[in-house]
Amino acid sequence: MGCLALNASFEPLTILPVERALRLVIERKAEVLEEDDARFYRSERERMAAPLVIRLKKFIHVPRRFRRQVTNTFLFARDAYRCQYCGRHKSILRGREFLTRDHVTPVSRGGENAWDNVVTACSVCNNRKASHLPAEIGMHLMKTPHEPNYVELVWAVRRVTEVQAKYIAMFYGEEILDALRRHAHEAERKEHHHHDDERHALTLIS
Ligand SMILES: [Zn+2]
Repeated sequence: MGCLALNASFEPLTILPVERALRLVIERKAEVLEEDDARFYRSERERMAAPLVIRLKKFIHVPRRFRRQVTNTFLFARDAYRCQYCGRHKSILRGREFLTRDHVTPVSRGGENAWDNVVTACSVCNNRKASHLPAEIGMHLMKTPHEPNYVELVWAVRRVTEVQAKYIAMFYGEEILDALRRHAHEAERKEHHHHDDERHALTLIS
């Protein structure tokens, strides 16, 4: 079991090996938020409980290349499964309506498939908006879309304890935690390049 590392802002960053987390604590680069009283590690001077959650004392900026591509799973979760134009939740859509990915500035007009240009929209609103900008046809977004910063959590989540999951939900909300778990479950079945991800995550924190 690894240790969940949070940024100074409490944003969950990644899972670190416990030995590495302990070293950050001993070097005073991180503080312990949760520990496992049943597992101990011995440093030169003292016996320390295994940290479950640590928080970095200094904020680290996460480079863009570590961020995640837009997928509908995380897009819909980010927007809490609500159409960002009419505000309807997935659960109250009618018969043939469904959630879609809408490009705020349409691709046909140079809009990118990027987190700050995509929102969740019901099929009705998406059809109505077509290749317009929202303002051109009197549509308004409920909130300005931003890029979420899940970093390595997507692969890490399958290994988290309940205590660690609580910190992820605290920062991102239950919807994101559920989406992460579902995604991890699927990934587990087609196990591939996770070792590369792991190596990347570890280079961020030193
Ligand atoms: Zn709608």
